[in-house]
Amino acid sequence: MSAIDEVKQKIDIVDVIGQYAALKKAGRNLTALCPFHSEKHPSFFVYPEQQSWHCFGACNTGGDVFAFVMKKEGLEFGEALRMLAQRAGVTLPSRVAPEERKEEKEELYQVNEAAALYFHNLLLNATASAKARNYIEKRGFTAKTITDFQLGFSLDSWDALKLYLGERGHSEETMLTAGLLIKAEDGRTYDRFRGKLMFPIRDIRGRVTGFGARVLDDSLPKYVNSPQTSTFDKSGTLYGIDRAAAEIRKQDKAIIMEGYMDVIMAHQNGITNAIASMGTAITETQANTLKKLSRNLILALDADAAGEEAMLRTVGYENILNAEMRVIVLPEGKDPDDVIREDISNWQSLANTAVPLIDFLFEKTTVKLDLTTARDKSGAVDRLLPIVAAINDPIRQAHYLQKLAAMVKVDMNTIKASLSRLKPTTSRRKTLVSKPAVTRPLRPMASNSREEYCLALLLQYPELRSQQPDLSPEYFESSENREIFNAWQEVSDILSLRERIDPAIHEHLDAIIKSVVYKTLSSTDIERRYTACILELEKQYYRNFEARRGEIFAQEVESGGKGADIARLQKEGIEPSTKLKELDAHKKRNPSLGRTRR
Ligand SMILES: [Zn+2]
Repeated sequence: MSAIDEVKQKIDIVDVIGQYAALKKAGRNLTALCPFHSEKHPSFFVYPEQQSWHCFGACNTGGDVFAFVMKKEGLEFGEALRMLAQRAGVTLPSRVAPEERKEEKEELYQVNEAAALYFHNLLLNATASAKARNYIEKRGFTAKTITDFQLGFSLDSWDALKLYLGERGHSEETMLTAGLLIKAEDGRTYDRFRGKLMFPIRDIRGRVTGFGARVLDDSLPKYVNSPQTSTFDKSGTLYGIDRAAAEIRKQDKAIIMEGYMDVIMAHQNGITNAIASMGTAITETQANTLKKLSRNLILALDADAAGEEAMLRTVGYENILNAEMRVIVLPEGKDPDDVIREDISNWQSLANTAVPLIDFLFEKTTVKLDLTTARDKSGAVDRLLPIVAAINDPIRQAHYLQKLAAMVKVDMNTIKASLSRLKPTTSRRKTLVSKPAVTRPLRPMASNSREEYCLALLLQYPELRSQQPDLSPEYFESSENREIFNAWQEVSDILSLRERIDPAIHEHLDAIIKSVVYKTLSSTDIERRYTACILELEKQYYRNFEARRGEIFAQEVESGGKGADIARLQKEGIEPSTKLKELDAHKKRNPSLGRTRR
């Protein structure tokens, strides 16, 4: 059995999704308010038998457990796979770079370094960068800071960087791989960063892995980054870590901010253990990197709603760190950059009174509630108890249980009873980020032989690629198949495909390639088999959709759902039924299509 199959067998989708959404039973399935979009009536469903999920509401999408984690945590397939493998206690083939890969990386570091220097010199000397210089002066950056962080400017030109680097012997392909260029549909390439303030991003060893870029006017998006490359992975990057690492270790404390500006302003003012997380909170990878330097993490994130949501997720990482995280509470609407610039002593006193993350969440959750009313009491418990349940340390957990009981003026026993009702979730939450669950009996696997047959044909006969432009990735229920299908669109041969996808699915890929070999079939025959297979995939997709929708509908009627809800479900049902009829008609017109299955 391949490692990925082992992960699939050991992980239960209900456990995983249960950590992100309050699942309720609905017949054989489970339902919840969709964790991806905001809604009042649950249209998010989990199907334990098929180990899949679907949102019938605004998202109208679904997939397997990997697809869920990818969407929810913003991860690539490989990252989601690794996260779940860790949880399942499965060791995956490592992503250790072969020699060739190392050379490629070395080239990327070099081209990035050259670009950083080019941008920096432009900022200091070019007439065209006057606007950028004005801007950073207004932000209060000193000349030393500009040099220390090697800030730069990219000309408002389609090819200035490309020409400059080309003259210095860097190939266009390297520039493309590094994400410095973008390839247009017609195959022409042009500079990705144009007319922007440039922030080179370095890893802990000081190598330039990618760039952040800020617009100099009010246009959106305000920031763009390098795309994911073999040197740049946003979810694992900590801006400023090259300058802050030694200090973090020395002070045994790291301050995590949100943006480049915050970090630069902090360092300029002597707060040299500050780094930025490149997002609204830290990720598991970042927590693991920082843990090696210090376990004391202090979050100084913008106090907006996104920031709070992010902090909720961050609670789980306390178990990785085996330490309490703290939060610097910023004045409403201010970010660290503002506070530091306005009054450094004010910042210092805020930093000295950083509160434990969980106390902060208690405060944030209850500040808008009226805890004398029964409704708000139960609202507070609903939201806070799962957070308390996620704490591994029994003493700290007891502390916060008491705090919660006192806040809502309900006795400890009642709270404890609610906690034990949460218990299954409790142990799951813990295993997400700490110990793997190993004793689960293996479930039989859902077979996706049809998907794999389609892929086998597609991979062996690249000319099929042009035959079916309308084969959607959504038709693949298995994420690993979806991943292979997506990667195949971007490469031209199997070797590059292998390089592109995570090594953990190499075995799966090999099995697919080996599964079908036709030496004697004509290209028309191959084409026909392929078309038939796709048609079946498409039908399977809509049939599934239909069946699931039907179940929900029956459930809704049974539980006496409101007329509006039922009407809504009926409306949603129209599309797939029509689609299924169309597909059937197509098959009748092409009777040979039905016989070509393996
Ligand atoms: Zn949704």
